[in-house]
Amino acid sequence: EAEISGYFAELMDLTDKYARLKVRQNADTPRDAAIGRRFGAQGIGLCRTEHMFFEGGKIQSMREMILAKDESGRRKALSKLLPLQRNDFIEIFKVMDGFPVTIRLLDPPLHEFVPHDEAGQREMADVMNLSYEEVRDRVNSLIEANPMLGLRGCRLGNLYPEITEMQTRAILEAALEVKKKGNEVIPEIMVPLTSIVSEFDAQKEVIDRTAKTVFEEKGESIDYKVGTMIEVPRAALTAFKIARSAEFFSFGTNDLTQMTFGYSRDDVAKFLPMYLDKGILKEDPFVSLDQIGVGQLIEIAVKRGREVRPDLKCGICGEHGGEPSSVKFCHKVGLDYVSCSPYRVPIARLAAAQAAIEEE
Ligand code: PEP
Ligand code: MG
Repeated sequence: EAEISGYFAELMDLTDKYARLKVRQNADTPRDAAIGRRFGAQGIGLCRTEHMFFEGGKIQSMREMILAKDESGRRKALSKLLPLQRNDFIEIFKVMDGFPVTIRLLDPPLHEFVPHDEAGQREMADVMNLSYEEVRDRVNSLIEANPMLGLRGCRLGNLYPEITEMQTRAILEAALEVKKKGNEVIPEIMVPLTSIVSEFDAQKEVIDRTAKTVFEEKGESIDYKVGTMIEVPRAALTAFKIARSAEFFSFGTNDLTQMTFGYSRDDVAKFLPMYLDKGILKEDPFVSLDQIGVGQLIEIAVKRGREVRPDLKCGICGEHGGEPSSVKFCHKVGLDYVSCSPYRVPIARLAAAQAAIEEE
């Protein structure tokens, strides 16, 4: 039962009478997606695909893909991942019938997937017909001093476009299949961590080329959008370039906060509580949107983006998306939606309505 009902549904409908902002959910599994629907989510604003590769028999092929010596080795592993990834999306599209689903291309540091212990590396060497030393050296070559600033986001898809091809194919084949069963599927493909427009353009080229091939093979097509995360300050500032080719922006305020303040989002627990204790910081910027810093970058990006593309759809999908004060800020700067954890959807919808009412 994915639909909302009763008094709660009436209350959520009432928010729609006033709210200008839509409220979507961040969900990576059909189960989460169904929870979000019951809480009144009006779409998925962020489906992170990286977690999918740790489960459902995918981790082994993922390791083969990463450890492969060349493109043909990577393609072989990706062909094993394709049907599994397609199934992931089929289930999510079914649950989200009639609502937009933004799927983000793979965005983790690669070393997270590979075994770092000798036994695990020996096992991979056996499976792949490589020497233990070859596997060990490849794993070591993936270790970075600052993985959050390293080979992640669209840098991956740009170095290994075959990953983007596989994911695009999985998304669109799933979309066509679910559409055939009578559901309305609204797929949006999102490029992570763009900082230079050429990174986005190269990914969009791969996505559009793959889509054309899939539609020709299947003899049918479906509308899809291609957009980008804005989570690097440079991307926000150069929005007027990126919006020429991106159809939507989604602000990743977790990374945008990290990169604007220069605070490692993985290490904040080590120093931020002391900063808060001493009163140097009044609020945790990873919880409350820093409206005059990070928020200003959002405002600039929306304005500059819409100067070249007036109908540019803009949303936010970082943790801040479910905070009532951030929701109000998003309303004020003209975003189209916020996306948050399924459990925070009701509060975000109420905050969206309240922001609109307060404005009257
Ligand atoms: C973000 O950076 O705000 C974001 C939504 O992406 P992730 O948390 O997956 O890096
Ligand atoms: Mg991010």
